[in-house]
Amino acid sequence: MSLVMKFGGSSVATGARLRQVADLVVAARNRRPAVVLSAMGKSTDALFAAGEAARSGDVGTAMERVGTVFASAQAACADLLADAASTRATLDAMRTDLGTLLRGVALLRELTPRTRDAIVAHGERIATTVFAAALRERGVPVAHVDARDWLLTDEVHGGANPARAETALRAARTVAPPLADGAIVVTQGYVGASVGGATTTLGRGGSDWSAALLGEALRAEEVQIWTDVEGVLSADPRVVPEPRPIPVLSPAEAAELAAFGAKVLHPATIQPAVEAGIPVTVRHTLRPTGAFTTIDPRAGRSTRGAVAALACRGPVTVLTMTSTRMLAASGYLARLFAAFGELGICVDLVATAEVSVTCTVEPDAPLEKLAKALAGHATIEVQTDRAIVAAVGDGLVRAPQLLARAAAALHPIVPEITCFGGNDRNLSFVVRQAEVVAAMQRLHAEFFATAPAAATAGQEVAR
Ligand code: ASP
Ligand code: MG
Repeated sequence: MSLVMKFGGSSVATGARLRQVADLVVAARNRRPAVVLSAMGKSTDALFAAGEAARSGDVGTAMERVGTVFASAQAACADLLADAASTRATLDAMRTDLGTLLRGVALLRELTPRTRDAIVAHGERIATTVFAAALRERGVPVAHVDARDWLLTDEVHGGANPARAETALRAARTVAPPLADGAIVVTQGYVGASVGGATTTLGRGGSDWSAALLGEALRAEEVQIWTDVEGVLSADPRVVPEPRPIPVLSPAEAAELAAFGAKVLHPATIQPAVEAGIPVTVRHTLRPTGAFTTIDPRAGRSTRGAVAALACRGPVTVLTMTSTRMLAASGYLARLFAAFGELGICVDLVATAEVSVTCTVEPDAPLEKLAKALAGHATIEVQTDRAIVAAVGDGLVRAPQLLARAAAALHPIVPEITCFGGNDRNLSFVVRQAEVVAAMQRLHAEFFATAPAAATAGQEVAR
């Protein structure tokens, strides 16, 4: 068994932060950790900007951007390493390569997705170079494995799709053996390689996906996502002052929350781990003994029957379409939504009545075109500046008195639409955008304030 530990950009931003990461990794040594790192701080942004500057022919600005990236890496080395000479030399060589790439881009005034990947992948490569050196200085055996030697992808540069079966085979050859020998593996997130060996990237924020893919490939006992929050919270802290960390979420609950824009791991990114039955934990690098959330594939639907978390999204626009024929004929809904499909309008909540259909859409939906397309079929009434507030939890419909409690808590806010999700884990309300903060705070007080504090701390996964 092994453990995948992934650290995000802020967790590895400086020498001091990397030192804490090294502490955590070394402390987990007997669990055979494979460490997946993001680029330090905002390096990836700077590398993208360098590429753009080079494309416009501005080599000076491009090299300036690259300079800041390497300057913070060098500063981290100076802070972290007793003997930084060989690491500094490695970084200097990378910087020279990157300079060559960028001058090529500037010369051609052309930045292909493939070249951009080669440029931006330097962020993660720098981070693992510095971190592997720091671990080595601690006297632990370290294997610095290039992600391009295990993560095989297609050739969609900038948004590559992993070939999971072949990735597992490659990881078995390159990552598993050093782990079995007792070494700590250090590798890059976000970065992969195509069959032809070209550097690819998984898309922005892709390191979590890398970690889940490596977890699946290694059949790891756990994938840890170390970041700057104590797990997934019961509500957005910008909306509700004191949200609680949620101890356990099912993958379906996490997906539901993510769909509402909650700060949760994107469900697609952890899918490989979920499918392999591996728990994914979300933890705070600066508070390693604090609360955390386990997204547990074994958390069954039967386990909750209560509200797990609240989420909100807005503004949205509410459309009420009323049939101009007296009775809804068969195929009416299909015709209605065909018009939405043709115009690329995404429909979110839907509530239907005999001759009218109410739904929510994004505020920038092309409503004039929609009205034209539906002319003769339906009239449209539009309400802007609305928001959706949702309670999420597996088996939510079984929560005793759920609707009555929610309605009483919301009072005097009266939702314009109340809607149970087609699944049994979502109860949504449409309110005015101006009421959304109050609605969230009242619902949170109702469903979370009375929970015993002891129930909020994450429990270590017993396996
Ligand atoms: N460094 C990459 C990014 O900033 C990948 C990641 O951090 O997950 O998008
Ligand atoms: Mg990230």
